[in-house]
Amino acid sequence: MEQIVIIGGGGTGAALAHDLALRGFGVSLFERGELLSGATGRHHGLLHSGGRYAVDDPAAAKECIRENKILRRITPEAIEQNDGLFVALDDSDMDYRPLFLEQCGQCGIPTEELTSTQVLAIEPALHPDLKAAIRVPDATLDAWRLPLYFFASAKANGARIHNFSQVIGFHKSDGAVTGVRIFDHRTEREYDAQGDLFVNACGAWADKICALAGIQLPLQPGPGVMVAVNARLTNMVINRLNQAGEGDIIVPQRELSVLGTTLWLAKDPDRIELPSDHVQKIRKLCAQMVPAVKETAIHSVWCASRPLIEQKQATEPQQISRTFDCYDHKQKDNLEGLVSIIGGKATTLRAMAEKTADLICRKTGRNIACKTKTEKLLHYRHFYK
Ligand SMILES: Cc1cc2nc3c(=O)[nH]c(=O)nc-3n(C[C@H](O)[C@H](O)[C@H](O)COP(=O)(O)OP(=O)(O)OC[C@H]3O[C@@H](n4cnc5c(N)ncnc54)[C@H](O)[C@@H]3O)c2cc1C
Repeated sequence: MEQIVIIGGGGTGAALAHDLALRGFGVSLFERGELLSGATGRHHGLLHSGGRYAVDDPAAAKECIRENKILRRITPEAIEQNDGLFVALDDSDMDYRPLFLEQCGQCGIPTEELTSTQVLAIEPALHPDLKAAIRVPDATLDAWRLPLYFFASAKANGARIHNFSQVIGFHKSDGAVTGVRIFDHRTEREYDAQGDLFVNACGAWADKICALAGIQLPLQPGPGVMVAVNARLTNMVINRLNQAGEGDIIVPQRELSVLGTTLWLAKDPDRIELPSDHVQKIRKLCAQMVPAVKETAIHSVWCASRPLIEQKQATEPQQISRTFDCYDHKQKDNLEGLVSIIGGKATTLRAMAEKTADLICRKTGRNIACKTKTEKLLHYRHFYK
């Protein structure tokens, strides 16, 4: 069976290693740092219902609700079944409400309308003057453990996972990629790895990988800031019932609340400066939904970069779709042997892997069905066994 080399050990690489190993391919994965040290280990930890995207980005919303249901089935221990609320605080939110309900219906996202009395009874920390709330199947996920379930299962099925192993170049012959040059950060030595096909799953760094191969990718790194405050202020995920914007999500994570986020466009995900006003802005906006945010001490502040697919026609970063796509560089750049997968969400990691593995099957002439929708994953602790 063919040997597939995956570059990048985030959620997308993890899910792809699992999918390919299940289909019987040989798999080697190289991650330049610790596993999941890119965006995957550092996002809010929101298992999206798709509600956030239902109005402006229905393709992404449909992907989210489909995968939300599948992940609850295959990794139940990594997900808290706490649901989410979209809360209306002013007239503009109330005006948005009918469109939100209609679009959630179109995307297959279940909704339940609650009155302010009902919602304050279950979430008393919400602003007492809120006007309405809509319940959706959002959930809290463990950003690090969930993809580790995929790594554990991939490893048990024979995948070889190498962390601290950075791809620093490609070997090519007759218009095809034949190998990668690796720098091992632990031994400080370089070596080569061969394969039949190479997959670039490097998230916001994916265009840097393509640059090593002398080609380009329509990738737009989109960083955002998150702020954890030192108390679990709500049990459900809280969203502002309005167009996706800034400071409109609160995700309870164990005894913390993660507030998010912002979005701007950056050139280089290795040189992100955290804008000083973003923390204040996020706290102020989230405090409109849950006033106790104002008095709760900050536990930590961090940022990560989304691997957005460039959209030249978007006038605002928020207009860029959160959907994903897979590129066969033979078709795009006349370079055989290299495939890239970018875009998406942590919520859609499995679907991104399925699309990429389907492409690999077509390229290698194999007709092997995807099994990851139903195959329950090994517990993440198996990764260390
Ligand atoms: C602020 C913010 C909040 C978010 N919140 C959520 C959320 O709540 N829910 C959700 O579903 N999604 C969320 N997302 C989106 C989600 O985090 C990403 O879409 C997802 O994690 C991307 O996964 P990935 O594996 O494609 O990329 P990454 O996780 O970034 O993985 C890419 C990996 O490639 C490695 N790499 C780079 N260069 C090399 C090289 N030369 N050699 C080897 N390895 C290399 C990197 O070190 C990295 O580990 C959020 C994103 C941001 C920015």
